[in-house]
Amino acid sequence: MENPVRETVIMGSGCAGLTAAIYAARANLKPLVLGGHEPGGQLSLTTLVENFPGSPEGIQRPELVENMKKQAMRFGAEFSTGHVTAADLMRRPFTLTLGKDSIRTRTLIIASGASARWLGLPNEQALIGHGVSSCATCDGFFFSGREVVVVGGGDSAMEEALFLTRFATKVTLIHRREQFRASKIMLDRARKHDKIAFLTDTVVEDVHDVAKKEVTGLTLRNLKSNEVSEFPTSALFLGIGHVPNAQMFGDQLERDVDGYLKTVNYVFTRVPGVFACGDVQDRRYRQAISAAGTGCMAALEVEKYLEEAGR
Ligand code: NAP
Repeated sequence: MENPVRETVIMGSGCAGLTAAIYAARANLKPLVLGGHEPGGQLSLTTLVENFPGSPEGIQRPELVENMKKQAMRFGAEFSTGHVTAADLMRRPFTLTLGKDSIRTRTLIIASGASARWLGLPNEQALIGHGVSSCATCDGFFFSGREVVVVGGGDSAMEEALFLTRFATKVTLIHRREQFRASKIMLDRARKHDKIAFLTDTVVEDVHDVAKKEVTGLTLRNLKSNEVSEFPTSALFLGIGHVPNAQMFGDQLERDVDGYLKTVNYVFTRVPGVFACGDVQDRRYRQAISAAGTGCMAALEVEKYLEEAGR
């Protein structure tokens, strides 16, 4: 027997998805939230969250995410850990495929986020939250008075390096080539900054020290000379891009060249009844609070859509 058709399903359990869940649950829509492969979203990659309004002393990220989840559950949201592998948005109700299972829903809120690109180093994942970070805005403050490294050659890396100069005594920007993808203005700004040093034609081969649960240094390789060296540092920030989690929709929804979902009026996709919020459609702000804001908008639009469609 097929499962009943849902009023709304929310893909993603980061700040956008959980805020959408709170609003949709309070509208009595009994939303089903699918956790995906990174429950808690990008926020789960930081430790202390100090820029989310309402917590003067900061809040530990598991607590923030758990609080939002509890708040949504209190009003009737349901949670499942499923990961959507395919979706049919061309027929109604919409169908989401999760491995062998499928879910049918009248509306869909896509809050599946964007996953930070990692280098894939042996010890990198073990040190996330302990000196390895993909978010300077979230974690830069913890390295006040220390020397840090940023990897990447695009605008994100320049932006991260410039931001980190507020806290760090020195920022070394490591890039695998001599040419940069970054816009000239950002690159010039970084080059002119007296706290930023550039190391080009260089790749990071490993990060230490897992035993100490903190970053103490990197193993580097110069790609021209092939020389391997040890580089002491307190943090490794990655600015090598993000991958929006929207591949499962193929051409059914409009995406930009980097795969971010295109929306109008903040959260509307080109398919009526399908709304997108948070990092999967936001390449610019990518903050917990801005994701929460668009999550709220998406849920309000779902409510309106269902009302107009004669719920
Ligand atoms: P990006 O432009 O794609 O740059 C990614 C950088 O990371 C490239 O330099 C790339 O090196 C490097 N990289 C990728 N994989 C790597 C790996 N495995 N190992 C080492 N290096 C690796 O990404 P982005 O900087 O996140 O920017 C994405 C878009 O957002 C761009 O359009 C950018 O202009 C925009 N953006 C704008 C601003 C702003 O205007 N303030 C800020 C942030 C982002 P290669 O060059 O060798 O490929």
